[in-house]
Amino acid sequence: MRSLACIGNFSILPIIRKVMGGVILFPHLLYSEKFVLQFWRCLVTLYAGLFDLSWWGYVLMALLLTHITIVSVTLFLHRAQAHLAIQFGPFLSHFFRCWLWLTTGMVTKEWVAIHRKHHGQCEMEGDPHSPIVWLRGTQSPLLRVLKMIFIWVPWRGVRLYVAESKEIDMVRYGVGTPSDCVERHLYTPYAKYGIVLMLAFDILCFGAMPGLLIWLVQIVWIPVFAAGIVNGVGHYFGYRNFESCHRKTGVVDSSTNIGPFGVLIGGEELHNNHHAHELSPKLSVKWYEFDIGWMYIRFFNFLGLVKSIRSDRMPT
Ligand SMILES: [Zn+2]
Ligand SMILES: [Zn+2]
Repeated sequence: MRSLACIGNFSILPIIRKVMGGVILFPHLLYSEKFVLQFWRCLVTLYAGLFDLSWWGYVLMALLLTHITIVSVTLFLHRAQAHLAIQFGPFLSHFFRCWLWLTTGMVTKEWVAIHRKHHGQCEMEGDPHSPIVWLRGTQSPLLRVLKMIFIWVPWRGVRLYVAESKEIDMVRYGVGTPSDCVERHLYTPYAKYGIVLMLAFDILCFGAMPGLLIWLVQIVWIPVFAAGIVNGVGHYFGYRNFESCHRKTGVVDSSTNIGPFGVLIGGEELHNNHHAHELSPKLSVKWYEFDIGWMYIRFFNFLGLVKSIRSDRMPT
């Protein structure tokens, strides 16, 4: 087969080599077919991802990356920022903020404000995301369960969060959240750009298709597990240790512990314990309950990465 570089008896390659050889610092590289071949292989390798894993390797990576995100949400956004139950040192605080920017597109002040309002008006009309308020018009128990599973968890919970983020009084509820120059010039105005960077990172590391799939799992993880399951299921299904209620109005809430092992959602599964002791950095109460978030807090404290912990507010 004739080379594409030859047209009739005229070969274009020597001309290209001459021109390039004059202007490129190391022209000898261009003459080497080996170099071209290596360069092409490198491109293909890059496209396939820097890490060639088996399918369970990709699953493990997706679980690891989403776990870091859920830990950032529960430790930084929830326990540290919203409830001031713990204060992290600058290294961990910046790591959590950056990771949340890369993987969720959420703004710290918005999240904190919406969550504080949830505690302030729990199960009442002003609650930003109460499944009890949402289900008031539905009488059938079966229909209520179906609505929770098929509407609230995948979609309704996150929709209520987004709607509230556009209306909430940030000055009243968002006080004390970060407002440094990184927040003002990057994390808040370019909140959605981080997840695009994460997409590029996933494709670079894991290749086009696995990278895209891992990224999609990362993107839907928080809307489903936090807005869908904690905010919804954590107020509907599960067991209660406490008759938790609003500390001022005395209105009893419907918060539940989804299960005794708080691992997959970083300890947020113990939502009834949290509503009963909202200023406690530790969410487990009974001997058989486990809060992985508290385990990480103790580990970070051991490493000297925690400034202060409100241990006086822990349930006894
Ligand atoms: Zn709640
Ligand atoms: Zn809370």
